[in-house]
Amino acid sequence: MSSDANLRTRLAVAVGEDIVRGPGDGEFGRHLRDFVVQAPAGVNIVAFAYPRSTEQVSRILRFCHENDLPVVPQGGMTGLVGGGVPVTRCVVLSLERMRAIEEVDTAASTMTVQAGVVLEAVQKAADAANLFFPLDLGGRGSCQVGGNASTNAGGNRVLRYGMMRDLILGVEAVLADGTVINALHKYIKNNTGYDLRQLFIGSEGTLGVITRLVLRLYPKPRSVCTGLCALRGYAAVVEFLGRAKAGFGSTLTAFEVMWPEFYRLGTVALSRQPPIEPKHGVYVLIETMGTDPDADQSRFEKVIEEALGSGLLEDAVIAQSVAQAQQLWAIRDCPGEFPRIHWPQLGFDVSVPTGEIGDLVEELRKVLLARWPDIVLVFFGHVADGNLHLSARLPAAASEHDVEELVYGVIARRRGSVSAEHGIGLHKKPFLQCSRSPEEIEMMRAIKRALDPKGILNPGKVF
Ligand code: ZN
Repeated sequence: MSSDANLRTRLAVAVGEDIVRGPGDGEFGRHLRDFVVQAPAGVNIVAFAYPRSTEQVSRILRFCHENDLPVVPQGGMTGLVGGGVPVTRCVVLSLERMRAIEEVDTAASTMTVQAGVVLEAVQKAADAANLFFPLDLGGRGSCQVGGNASTNAGGNRVLRYGMMRDLILGVEAVLADGTVINALHKYIKNNTGYDLRQLFIGSEGTLGVITRLVLRLYPKPRSVCTGLCALRGYAAVVEFLGRAKAGFGSTLTAFEVMWPEFYRLGTVALSRQPPIEPKHGVYVLIETMGTDPDADQSRFEKVIEEALGSGLLEDAVIAQSVAQAQQLWAIRDCPGEFPRIHWPQLGFDVSVPTGEIGDLVEELRKVLLARWPDIVLVFFGHVADGNLHLSARLPAAASEHDVEELVYGVIARRRGSVSAEHGIGLHKKPFLQCSRSPEEIEMMRAIKRALDPKGILNPGKVF
């Protein structure tokens, strides 16, 4: 028996026969890739482990720690940077069997869940309790909340509700040596020393394996208003954002900006009738969620009509039904269809202050087109969060690395972020130093050494 087969057998004895599988026991392709990154051919997976409880996760990690075995924790594998992809000899630890929704506490407005619950199931359970879990993103039907937490997922409603980090009141996580840290609190205020929960959120499985979460719920919106607006350029977008914030207050939930190439992809390229003629400088999809359907709709119309009347908006349509709102959102959601209409592409997810995004778009256009005149640049973003996405189709002569170096060089000079909401994983590791100082990276390493001295947790990721 090879030593790895021997280790697998001993792991099965330690944690349970039904929890552990070997590479020959089935088809495990879903554990070897996310949306962008594929594991290297022939990567040596010692075992696939499918625990059902925190206690089993703890036993798996204790065994791996004692045997110096790397562990790669995995959620729904919908990431975009290879954070969950195994790259060296390891045990793959999938949380997919930990799917219990344990409790909805309506007084505390919380939901306690195991890490493997799919995001959409959380949204539905909140809705059934007459409450609302606001995190939403394209992978909702297969991503898991444990993965959303360990990558600090963002999405379209960050403007109002914050990122996943802001939606978690309590965390239970297992450290590299199997120690269980139970910080499953159901209250907002807790100034009792270091906020340990935040160490596990956004650290991409390098400091511990999140096993359970207390999620923060909100009142269920009674009204949703959706509109699409056309503007001359980015300066008008910033002014309109200011008016929308002032006019809608905390009911403003989305302010999604689309540049013309993106708008054409989301409409004409998909054989859809554009709701507004595709001749404007920039487009904004705007959404509010409130508690008073009649008053909210008339306020929505008033703010948009005033912006139209003053010439700030060149055109606008306001959805009059749920179906019309969905048609407007389908334009913004067209990246899901990029494989059909705009492929292969190289994606970017960067941040700079909201006021600089228009200049950043112009600068990126200028430097990229000067070097590769045939490159196709598609810009869109959650600009109220300072977050810009760029999807680039490269000419044959351009290497991905050269394009990334140029883009991240611009971001570094602007002291921006090379990853607004997708994480670092493997894909962006070479560019971490564009956004983080040597002192910051050394502080991260010090925390890593303290919590995972043998370096078994998701090795090779982040830095
Ligand atoms: Zn995004």
